[in-house]
Amino acid sequence: ALTRAVEEADEGYLRAQLSPLSPLSHKGTNGRLAAVCGSDLYRGAAALAAEAALRTGVGYLTLCSTERVCQLVSLRSPETVLRPLSGGGEGQLCPGDLPDLWAGVEGADALLIGPGLGRSEGAGELVGELLGRFAGPVLVDADGLYHLARHPQWLAKRRGPTVLTPHLGEMARLTGESAGEIGKNPLACAARWAAEWGAVVLLKGHNTAIAGPDGALAVNPTGGAGLAKAGSGDTLSGILAALLAQGTPPFVAAVCAAWLHGRAGDLCPAGRSARSTLPRDLPGRLGDIFAQLG
Ligand code: AMP
Ligand code: MG
Repeated sequence: ALTRAVEEADEGYLRAQLSPLSPLSHKGTNGRLAAVCGSDLYRGAAALAAEAALRTGVGYLTLCSTERVCQLVSLRSPETVLRPLSGGGEGQLCPGDLPDLWAGVEGADALLIGPGLGRSEGAGELVGELLGRFAGPVLVDADGLYHLARHPQWLAKRRGPTVLTPHLGEMARLTGESAGEIGKNPLACAARWAAEWGAVVLLKGHNTAIAGPDGALAVNPTGGAGLAKAGSGDTLSGILAALLAQGTPPFVAAVCAAWLHGRAGDLCPAGRSARSTLPRDLPGRLGDIFAQLG
């Protein structure tokens, strides 16, 4: 049974939780985010996450990825600091990349792992290393969750907060439960596993369920079918990771990111159909949303 009240995610919650950037801030105080995302076959995931993080106001974004991914991201989001790594011949990061990778990650305030990363054993080894080494907040999404599902013991190595953002299929892989069962009561499922894993769990879908390891709960009211496209989750990850880098507490960051992402989706149609909304449109909406929040 769920014991805690469910937080109401609305504009009031976001206003109370997200303060405007200080006029005295500089790039070092607005959050340094390291993103370990992308592989040669999934370059767009890194580009989408990067743009979303930048539009959420992160002060310094470092992308650690293959050279091809870095090339794309440098064109689409030239604000990104690039750490191109050799990759292991499979177009994915590999254990040999670890020293350079760690140099790019070490000083960050938060770490995003997973969108487009790839499923090779080698990429998985890096995920395990980073989860053990990085002491700040880590967001694990997408292929990062694929690797984590194969090595659940990695969660015990974490030295800082962990946020997981599975969709139903990824949650099924992580828990061994069926997606159908999870879908019947997503909030209860998120709550149970958040406590079990000691992590914030943001279980994606229509009315995304969010649970903290301490029993905090929320359901997100924003967003619709315009978000149901490959690449959509990558923009959510960028927003959420940016908020973590800015020091937002992990559960609050998850609630705010889900709300902002859904709201961006709701604004996209503006006279058009949700059918035509694309994930790449979402980061561009954030400016208006933040302006309305004040
Ligand atoms: P992913 O499956 O990783 O690309 O993530 C999809 C994103 O879009 C998540 O943030 C979902 O919550 C959101 N989303 C997908 N379909 C819907 C829907 N029908 N209503 C609201 N949000 C959705
Ligand atoms: Mg995804």
